[in-house]
Amino acid sequence: MALAFEQGPIRPPSEAHSLLIRLTRNCPWNRCAFCNAYKGTTFSVRTVEDIKKDIDTIAEMSRLIARVSQGNDTDGLQSKLYESGEFQLYHVANWLASGGKTVFLQDGNSMLLKTAALLEILAYMKEKLPTVERITSYARSDTLLRKSVDELAQLKQAGISRVHVGLESGCDEVLKFMDKGVTAQQHIDAGKRVKESGISLSEYILLGLGGRKWAKEHPFDTARVLSAINPDYIRLRTLAIVENTPLYTKMQQGAWEEQPDANIVEEEKILIENLNGIESRLLSDHSMNLLGEINGNLPHDKPAMLQVIDRFLALPETEKNNFILGKRWGLYNKLNDLQDPERHARVENTLQKLQSQGTLEATIANLKYQMVRV
Ligand code: SF4
Repeated sequence: MALAFEQGPIRPPSEAHSLLIRLTRNCPWNRCAFCNAYKGTTFSVRTVEDIKKDIDTIAEMSRLIARVSQGNDTDGLQSKLYESGEFQLYHVANWLASGGKTVFLQDGNSMLLKTAALLEILAYMKEKLPTVERITSYARSDTLLRKSVDELAQLKQAGISRVHVGLESGCDEVLKFMDKGVTAQQHIDAGKRVKESGISLSEYILLGLGGRKWAKEHPFDTARVLSAINPDYIRLRTLAIVENTPLYTKMQQGAWEEQPDANIVEEEKILIENLNGIESRLLSDHSMNLLGEINGNLPHDKPAMLQVIDRFLALPETEKNNFILGKRWGLYNKLNDLQDPERHARVENTLQKLQSQGTLEATIANLKYQMVRV
């Protein structure tokens, strides 16, 4: 019989080399107006028994891969592995090749499982996959608040090293409008609880989520919430509006207006300027972010990060447009790429054509949309 285990569709980019083990299916909330990750799906919790079977399968695949890679393929192991389906085979093989140390628990909010069930799964994982050193999961702030510091500390002890939380905004009006189902104070309380337990905390921020209406409140309040939490990581994301979402409908109805890219950089400036008294690592680790070079440790690298933003904001309008188009097109990565005469001329040529046709904004929006689809 072919070896197979269940996997979900999504993981954070920072977990690219992690083994994906599915504890729950989809998202239990599934109402955030901007998110289409699990739209049209139903949330369910997998049984501990099924999860343990998956762990057994992964352990078996790991053993077989090790035998094949040592040249010990006397009884057709390679074809047995290929029967498992290429994706899972390569997934486990790649995980082993990168040391077999990290695991990401799927899907959108696996910390929802009862603590006793999580502890049982973690203990089994450690027994069957002994090379694992780091285990991480997505978690909603309201879910984390259902666990005491003591329970979280037990999970940390059992192997949960980090939780990834979609904070998105620290502005209550924005959280309510987007139906995030969490208040700014709940984000703070949950974040502090995780920190107290010793679990590493990664908070995701969605630049542009306030639209034009909350362009200042969104970054300012988000900085206030982050400053209260002092997370280990602050990961910047930029909103891209996807068609089959409630936010798209709200925008069509005129109830919410999108921020142009250049304004989002101004938001980013307000956010970073107002991050105070914390020692988080701030990362711009997503291709959707306009200024990918905004990375550093707070407070030390704050001036350098603001300097990059000011360099962009000081550009003449035509150069801002050139950079935005080039970045969305995938020709530029960093601001310094504007100095490359060949790429600059190529972008400028297209920019002028799009401006004369009046299609620049639509083209940039379409390029952003293409980026979130991949
Ligand atoms: S909680 Fe996360 S996965 Fe669920 S709908 Fe909101 S953003 Fe999407």
